[in-house]
Amino acid sequence: MSSTHQTMTENARFPRLKIAVSDCLKGVECRYNGGHAQDEFVKHQLSQYADFVPFCPEAAVIGTPRETIRLVDVKGQVRVLGSKTATDYTDGLQEYAEKRVALIAERQVDGAVVKSRSPSCGLERIKVYRESGEWYGSSDPMRQGVFTEQLQKSMPYLAIEEEGRLQDAWLRENYVLQVFSAARWREFMQQSPDVKAFQDFHRDHKFLLLSKSEALYRRMGPIVAETTAQNLTEKLQEYGALFHEAIAEKGARGKMINVLEHLYGYFKKQVTEREKAFFRETLEEFREGTVPLIAVIKIIQQFIHHYGSEYLSTQIILHPYPPELALRSSIQAYR
Ligand code: SF4
Repeated sequence: MSSTHQTMTENARFPRLKIAVSDCLKGVECRYNGGHAQDEFVKHQLSQYADFVPFCPEAAVIGTPRETIRLVDVKGQVRVLGSKTATDYTDGLQEYAEKRVALIAERQVDGAVVKSRSPSCGLERIKVYRESGEWYGSSDPMRQGVFTEQLQKSMPYLAIEEEGRLQDAWLRENYVLQVFSAARWREFMQQSPDVKAFQDFHRDHKFLLLSKSEALYRRMGPIVAETTAQNLTEKLQEYGALFHEAIAEKGARGKMINVLEHLYGYFKKQVTEREKAFFRETLEEFREGTVPLIAVIKIIQQFIHHYGSEYLSTQIILHPYPPELALRSSIQAYR
C-alpha cells in the first residue's frame, strides 16, 4: 500500500469550531444568585476545539444578582415575569435575543450549548405557569426558553444541545459529529470551491451522509452531478441546505452497520478467511451492543493500511472528529 493512504487517514485535520454558549456554562458568574453553572464538557473538552460566542440574556437585561424569572401565560400570551415582583422583562429579553442571535448568525457558528431548565436558555421542557402562579403539571404547556427559541427559529438546522443532554453518550456523539461536519462545510465554503472541489467534498462525505440519511444522500448526488462552473453558486446553496439537514439527523446502529458493510465490501475479495471471520464476529458484537464502534472502525482502518484504498482513505466517516474525544469508544454511543 502507498504511504499516502496512511498519512491521509491518520493525520486528519479538524476545523476549529465556533460554538455559541450560555455564559454560565463556561464558569462565568452570571446566574441569578451570582453563581455559575460550569460544565465539564464545555469548559474542559469543547473549549479545546472551539471558539465560543457567549450569551447571557438575563445578566445583560436584568443584571446580576437578580430575582428569578419564569414564563407565565398572560391572557394567552407567554410573558417573562419576575417570580417575586412580577416585573415584565419580556420586551428587553426579546430585544437582546434579536441582536445577539443576529450576531451569532453573522459569526456563522457551528452549534450551540445552552443551559437546561432556564426560562431564557433552556432547549425544552420549560414550564409555563398560570397567571395565578401555579403550574398544574403535564396538562400545562412546556416550551423552550425565549432566547433559544429565537436562536432555533433563526438557524433551524443549527446543532443545539443542553449541557444535561450532552451527558448522554448517544446525544453527545451525534452533537459532536454534527458540529464538526457543519464546521467543515463552513470552511469549505470560505475557500470559494470550484466544481472539482465540490465533487471531492461530496465524495469524501459519502459514507458519513449514508450513516445519517440515505434518502438525503440520494438527493445530493444529482445536485453535484449537474453542477457546472455556471451554476456552481446555486448548486452549492442547494446542496448546503440538504447537507445541514442530513447532519442534523440522529445516527442509528442499523444505519451504521449498513455503512460498515459497504466499507468492508471494498476488501471482501482480498481479505483472508480469518480476517473475514474476525470482521464478521466484531460487527456482530457491535450489533449486539457488546463492543463499541471504534473496534469495527479499527479493523476497517487496518484493511486500508494493509490492502490500500485511495477512495476510502479520505472518507470522513473514518475520522469525523478528533479521536481523543473517544466518543466511539462507548457502547452507549449507538442505539
Ligand atoms: S442560563 Fe442563560 S440567562 Fe441564565 S445565567 Fe446562564 S446564560 Fe445567563
